[in-house]
Amino acid sequence: MPNNNSLYSSQTITKLMTTEYGFSGEISRLAGENENYLIKKEDGSCFVLKLADKETTAEVIKIEHLAVDQLNEAGLDINLPRVIMTKTGSVLACLKTKDKKQIRGRLLEFVEGKAWCESLPAKVKQLEDLGKIIAKMNIVLSFIVQPGSITGSKNGSKRTHHWDLARADQHRSKISIIDNPKRREILEWVFHLYAAIVKPLLESLPQSLIHGDINDDNVLVADHKIAGILDFGDCLENPTICDLAIALAYHTLDEGDPFKAAATIIGSYHKVRALTMDEIKVIFPLMCARLAVSVIISAQRKKIDPSQKNWFVSEERAWKKLEIFSKTNPAQATILLAEKTNLAPFEDSGACVSELLKTRQKLIAPSVSPSYKKPLKIVRGKGQYLYDYHGRPFLDLYNNVCHVGHCHPKVVEAGQKQMAILNTNTRYLYDGLTEYAQRLCDTLPEELDTCFFVNSGSEANELALRIARTYTHQKDILVVDNAYHGHTSSMIDISPYKFMGKGGKGKPEPWVHVVPVADGYRGQFKGQTEDAGKSYGNQVGEIIDTIGTPVAGFITESLLSCGGQVIPPNEYFKTAFKHVRDAGGLCITDEVQTGFGRVGSHFWAFELQNVVPDIVVMGKPIGNGHPMSAVVTRKEIANSFANGMEFFATFGGNPVSCAIGMAVLDVIKEEGLQEHARKIGAGMIEGLNVLKGKHDIIGHVRGIGLFIGIELVNNRDNLVPATQKASELVNRMKERGILLGTDGPFNNVIKIKPPMVITKQDADMFIRVLDDELLSMETAPC
Ligand code: PMP
Repeated sequence: MPNNNSLYSSQTITKLMTTEYGFSGEISRLAGENENYLIKKEDGSCFVLKLADKETTAEVIKIEHLAVDQLNEAGLDINLPRVIMTKTGSVLACLKTKDKKQIRGRLLEFVEGKAWCESLPAKVKQLEDLGKIIAKMNIVLSFIVQPGSITGSKNGSKRTHHWDLARADQHRSKISIIDNPKRREILEWVFHLYAAIVKPLLESLPQSLIHGDINDDNVLVADHKIAGILDFGDCLENPTICDLAIALAYHTLDEGDPFKAAATIIGSYHKVRALTMDEIKVIFPLMCARLAVSVIISAQRKKIDPSQKNWFVSEERAWKKLEIFSKTNPAQATILLAEKTNLAPFEDSGACVSELLKTRQKLIAPSVSPSYKKPLKIVRGKGQYLYDYHGRPFLDLYNNVCHVGHCHPKVVEAGQKQMAILNTNTRYLYDGLTEYAQRLCDTLPEELDTCFFVNSGSEANELALRIARTYTHQKDILVVDNAYHGHTSSMIDISPYKFMGKGGKGKPEPWVHVVPVADGYRGQFKGQTEDAGKSYGNQVGEIIDTIGTPVAGFITESLLSCGGQVIPPNEYFKTAFKHVRDAGGLCITDEVQTGFGRVGSHFWAFELQNVVPDIVVMGKPIGNGHPMSAVVTRKEIANSFANGMEFFATFGGNPVSCAIGMAVLDVIKEEGLQEHARKIGAGMIEGLNVLKGKHDIIGHVRGIGLFIGIELVNNRDNLVPATQKASELVNRMKERGILLGTDGPFNNVIKIKPPMVITKQDADMFIRVLDDELLSMETAPC
């Protein structure tokens, strides 16, 4: 008898059986999530009637039938559930009920045998046999249907379902339904591995029709050999490796040493169907992802109906394994899994962290300091991820240099290609220099039409300062409090961030004039909404008045980065620039951190305030990590600098840098990264403001596009900076796989300025993990 949870009565099932197959029998519902019924005929023979849900279209059933048919043809010497045709020779059986509902299904032969999970412990021979059978199945299925030709619907779209391992991240946003924070942490870790290791390789992995659910219930065993494989109901086109990964996830659940058992299965698989290096690399994160999907689906179902015990059979076993797996380094896990193959998935990563720290101490100047309490040894970068010595990925929310993503293939290729053809200097003519200069000028207001190329932000600011002084014949320069413009002597002299910071000796030069930060959160005019920008701008005028002579200029970032991710209020630059120009000075905007579309709404951050500077300084993102920088100004200003003294920077504007610079501009455009930054940034700021409502320590969330700051305070009334906690939070986030930094005059602002390719899923993960860590800090004993 179908049990209480069955959708259909035994009368209905009997009717379907007799009309479509001409026989019926004793009917009982089989365990599991699907509507499957055992039909026992009077003569003792058994069949399985699988009813189709909405997603199981006629196309899907045909694929399933085709798969079983072809595997049977191939003579794998195992039992597979053959489809029984209806009286009219169809694979699909249909019945219209009295209330006009249509029931669809298919009848399968019942396959005798004991499930793997009931015949434990598994002997080595059995593990080997499993690997061999899966490999054979994968080979057969890869031959019968060409990738791309398998559709799951009439409209030709590919079949997918909620167990689809190539789309495991569809469940990532549901992590929050897990109540236990330790378990949430495990799931965040799993999906992070999936996003950083599996996702970038998914499309390039060999694809084929796969079984899709080789779990330990669906594998039948006799005499420690695989006797049958059941349930092709989840088959779909997928990366072929998913079949093996799914099998490994379930068949090692009860193994004391899951890596050893998995290595045995993988070894024998590899002998039959040789794995590629990329396939080996994704197995561990895929195994973890399958278990993660399983526990999330279980948790979801429990919320709907906790009485359905057989829906949760694997849940605790899966959690136990996930706990073990999450304590294993991905590189180490992969090396263990590949043990019985001839593949070496990780090249030698060199010295370990402690050794390298020691050598660094010996050879590198001590003022060059690594970040974090426990420094990271990074061996690889891709997109928004950095990978450490242990193969662990980190979501990079901090390094704005690799603007279009770490090691972007197009940028790498452009550099490599040009390096193999020519690298020379600006004393010779080559097309790249002028082509690039034109491309750069095209991004700027018309009057900014003349370029200089150098190699770093410091060098570019240094040059901007010289140009301003040469043009104006003045020396005095205005700088913003807490600003940083570079590490050279003059730049340290004009960077309050340094001369007022640790090791600094105060303002060194009388020609440097520091103006207050236009800080809407802490500044003098913080209460003002309308006129704050003008008020801060007028402070620049007041300081100019104290100088009493014309000035060379005013140098400022368009948004203040080291100063604590400050967004100056509207009208600030218009007002300040007017005062500077009235005093004969030039306005220099340092776009080293803020340029190239980061702010989303505009390509350059100064455009936010509708001003045009006299000189624009560019650095960091300009070469996506390649050391290059630029100064762009008006022709008239550049002409004044040509006073007879040649300007020559050996490496500035070399053909390789120009090729790389153009590739960066191409990628920003082709990948729509400016608009992407606007969208992702807006979502992130929204999420952070929700957290602000939950956590008192968040005093202020500010930013635009992917230039964001979170200011932490111990007290929202008197804004006592939470410097210690900001540092603790950044270190905690790093332990959770997310890179951030602190900055601002009190080092209490969490700085967010990621590669522009971060996804919504990355941003959502960041918000969830930040929420958890803030909660954990709040509840931790003092
Ligand atoms: N200007 C700003 C705003 C910067 O942030 C930096 C570097 N942090 C520089 C200039 C100096 O650039 P570089 O380190 O390339 O010399």
